[in-house]
Amino acid sequence: MSIDLSKMPKIGFGLMRLPEKDGVIDLDKVCKMVDSYLDAGFNYFDTAYVYHGGNSEKAVKEAIVKRHPRDSFTLATKLPAWFIHSFEDRDKVFTEQLERCGVDYFDFYLLHSIEDGNNYDTYEKYDCFNWGIQKKAEGRIKHFGFSYHGTPELLVKILDKHPEVEFVQIQLNYIDWDNAIVHSGELYKILSERNIPIIVMEPCKGGKLANLDDECASILKAIRPDKSVASWAFRFVGSLPGVTTILSGMSTEDQMADNMNTFKNFEPLNDEEKAAVDKVVEAMSRVELIGCTSCKYCVEGCPMGISIPDVISAINTARKFPGDMRPQFFYNGLVDRYSHASDCIACGQCEGVCPQHLPIITLMQEAVEKFESQG
Ligand code: SF4
Ligand code: SF4
Repeated sequence: MSIDLSKMPKIGFGLMRLPEKDGVIDLDKVCKMVDSYLDAGFNYFDTAYVYHGGNSEKAVKEAIVKRHPRDSFTLATKLPAWFIHSFEDRDKVFTEQLERCGVDYFDFYLLHSIEDGNNYDTYEKYDCFNWGIQKKAEGRIKHFGFSYHGTPELLVKILDKHPEVEFVQIQLNYIDWDNAIVHSGELYKILSERNIPIIVMEPCKGGKLANLDDECASILKAIRPDKSVASWAFRFVGSLPGVTTILSGMSTEDQMADNMNTFKNFEPLNDEEKAAVDKVVEAMSRVELIGCTSCKYCVEGCPMGISIPDVISAINTARKFPGDMRPQFFYNGLVDRYSHASDCIACGQCEGVCPQHLPIITLMQEAVEKFESQG
């Protein structure tokens, strides 16, 4: 059964940032939000084995499954590679998820957070793609896909190898469209060309696009004073063909009310509004970025095996988004496969060949300060 795009709601309720009280999920508030969401005509809930330390799936049972008919909502959850150490672990985790959520099937089931390196290797090592298809044949999963944080090259490889995948969840928002770590635009293009339905995560970049600085916010308010700043981020992704569902990790009733308003009366961005978003991107990009072109001339001769352009890419993203954890996660994944910036012995080989004349040794020190100073 293929996914009927016309029946997919545009906004999905992401259950990874649920409201808390005294350090635990505030179930009363979650119930109210679930009811408002369903009453507004939406029905897609997205959880995962690891959200809220496993308590998000338990909240699904209490707030949704016990209180609403099973056919009135669709439920998505995910298999975590980092809990899979044997073939048996796949079923062990899956059975636990069914029990936690109180259901006997999932509408959407994803391999969680595929990226280059260990994580993807684990899913292949334990044959998780074929396992997922088998679960579908058994009626335990209605639709099978994966969430993705890797490179465009790996995405193409996976889609070629596993054409059975029905949908892919990617990070997509206007500020990450050309981001050399997140690759939103490139991933979107690959999936669109193959007509693979796209589920969007981080449309607001973890809330950053809901809290723009005064300059950026005023660009948007000048055109639509009646609309929230966050609504522009949702309208940007909702205007893209092939996007079926946009997840929002809603934590408050106010956020939910604003999102409901955006999607109940959904208006795609018009040309004037698209130009305003471009202006915001331009203003947000005015921080000083390192002009590395990723030519990789420096890489082969590095005696320490440092992936220099990737390290620089992580620095650029960290400069652009202070406080954002993604460059740190990206760097952590990078040094699983290559050397640390702190391994640099200042031999100067790279600076001698860099056509952009970048001060690479100094940049490696900046990376050490930014990404290796914790703990
Ligand atoms: S200076 Fe550092 S980064 Fe550059 S080639 Fe030598 S060891 Fe590698
Ligand atoms: S040689 Fe210079 S521009 Fe090319 S990848 Fe290395 S640091 Fe970047």
